[in-house]
Amino acid sequence: MRLLLVEDDDMIAETVLGAMRRAGYAIDWAEDGRTAELSLGNGVYDLVLLDLGLPKKDGIDVLNAYRKAGGAAPVIILTARDSVDERIRGLDAGADDYLIKPFDLDELAARVRALLRRRTGQKQPVYAHGELTLDPAAHEVTKDGEPMALVPREFALLQALIEEPTRVFTKAELEEKLYGWGEEVGSNTIEVHVHSLRRKIGADQVVTVRGVGYRLKRCG
Ligand code: CA
Repeated sequence: MRLLLVEDDDMIAETVLGAMRRAGYAIDWAEDGRTAELSLGNGVYDLVLLDLGLPKKDGIDVLNAYRKAGGAAPVIILTARDSVDERIRGLDAGADDYLIKPFDLDELAARVRALLRRRTGQKQPVYAHGELTLDPAAHEVTKDGEPMALVPREFALLQALIEEPTRVFTKAELEEKLYGWGEEVGSNTIEVHVHSLRRKIGADQVVTVRGVGYRLKRCG
């Protein structure tokens, strides 16, 4: 999953970036409203964490413009402005949720998981597909009830696939989900992750669609 954090406070940003990376998300950081707008224009984000009081362009204006342009990723407002009016404006501008600073990082992570589920219509906290289950909160994958030991990128790869189990993902789409700005991505990186994931969960679980990309095997 690829997240964007829009936040001008360095300390808060470092804390949130660290927590989200530990939770297994790729996350980019925009320090002002203008950078946020440019970043959102490339359409790769699965979820946005948005501060409202920002240099160059206000968070509400960024959100308004994003929604007007058809931007559909869930948005959580992070704001110190502890006023009901601000929160109402944010929600009416198209935000999906909000947290008031200072917020608890575990609560933020739980709200992120909830919104990521909602965006794909998933009601259950644990994803299930055929013999596989994936629990984003516990960071656990099982096959036929047996726990599988996956490294973070394998987990992130499987999470992307299992969230939309009938979709074929191109390599470029998977790279965008697994890597943030400034991370070195080799030309065969996704193949390497697919190979190691197959070794652990079974070669038949991830299907290569020739000339297109990858999807999970059909089941049910
Ligand atoms: Ca701010």
